[in-house]
Amino acid sequence: MSKPVVLIVDDVPSNIKVLANCLKDHYRIKVATGGNDCLKLAVADPLPDLILLDIEMPDMGGYEVCQKLQGQPHTQDIPIIFVTARDADRNEELGLQLGAVDYIAKPVRPSIVLARVNTHVTLKQQRDLLKEIALKDQLTGLYNRYYLLETAEQRLAHTERHSDPLSVMLLDLDYFKQVNDTHGHLVGDKVLRELGELLGNTCRKDDIPARFGGEEFVILLGHCDLESGKEKSEEIRKQVEQLKPEGLDITVSIGVVQFYPGESIEQLLDRADKALYRAKDEGRNRVVSE
Ligand code: GH3
Ligand code: MG
Ligand code: MG
Ligand code: MG
Repeated sequence: MSKPVVLIVDDVPSNIKVLANCLKDHYRIKVATGGNDCLKLAVADPLPDLILLDIEMPDMGGYEVCQKLQGQPHTQDIPIIFVTARDADRNEELGLQLGAVDYIAKPVRPSIVLARVNTHVTLKQQRDLLKEIALKDQLTGLYNRYYLLETAEQRLAHTERHSDPLSVMLLDLDYFKQVNDTHGHLVGDKVLRELGELLGNTCRKDDIPARFGGEEFVILLGHCDLESGKEKSEEIRKQVEQLKPEGLDITVSIGVVQFYPGESIEQLLDRADKALYRAKDEGRNRVVSE
């Protein structure tokens, strides 16, 4: 596994050097010499696992940088440690109130810097792992039903506010019980994994692919009206036909519907389920829209 990444932010190069020396054997180091630079590097690859943040900087102070990082979804989970010559209690209190996880006074003691960074990086990694377990389906790595339903509420609300179309696709493997009965559960699992990978790869940034239950998947299609939803479904249906996981011919039936304003996620999924049922009824390996 590659080393965790620490972003060091300070307007004085010699301070950066001291901190980098404390950490370089255990961490990959990124460096920013001002607040604006920090905000850019915080969202650039490799993403930082922790930020060491100076308070007094000419272009943008550390408190303001901290607030900005905490205020945006992509950076709000990155732990921030203030490293500063301002060591009055009041400053420390303010830093912690703003959401920093710790506060180190300059001049720094290398072993203390390393120990504190180690602690907070470990905590962050544990949090990330728990989140991954809570939100993802273990077999396929796609999102799970819980995440889908949680996120869908927000996405539907956004769609209503911006009158931006949204569609939902419900997919179910055809005759999947036969795969298990003929080739065993392990082969069945591999088929599900390969299908999950295909679905994950065909999704755009605004789509949410999820395993909804056993051999049933949902994809929430952002910025997508019914016409595009049908095209996308047909594309996926054909790709699954070509997939041949474990050398087996498998197919999916798909129900696709567009969100009506005012509808709940349950109502939307219920309509998708009816469309899927029709796809099964009409012979499987097909797309039905409502
Ligand atoms: P249909 O075309 O009507 O959807 O037929 P089907 O056989 O796919 O549907 P049915 O609901 O009868 O069976 C679904 C099967 O999916 C049964 C179950 O064993 C299998 N399944 C569900 N979850 C898993 C899983 O995690 N791993 C494996 N290997 N199989 C699973
Ligand atoms: Mg400074
Ligand atoms: Mg099925
Ligand atoms: Mg099913």
